[in-house]
Amino acid sequence: MRISNIKIIEDSVKSVSCTGDKDSGSHPQIFLKLNEEGSIECYYCGKIFIHKSKFKKNNV
Ligand SMILES: [Zn+2]
Repeated sequence: MRISNIKIIEDSVKSVSCTGDKDSGSHPQIFLKLNEEGSIECYYCGKIFIHKSKFKKNNV
């Protein structure tokens, strides 16, 4: 399994778009809605989008 690649986003953001990246390969643009925990994983490339505040909490 590829090492997760995490993208920090602002807490006010409710959905994100993803087109992949250079490392994991590009894919068609998709829109992902964040879940209640403030994170979502792209099902194409496995990139994880997470709210800034959640990410800090998880790393304390
Ligand atoms: Zn993606």
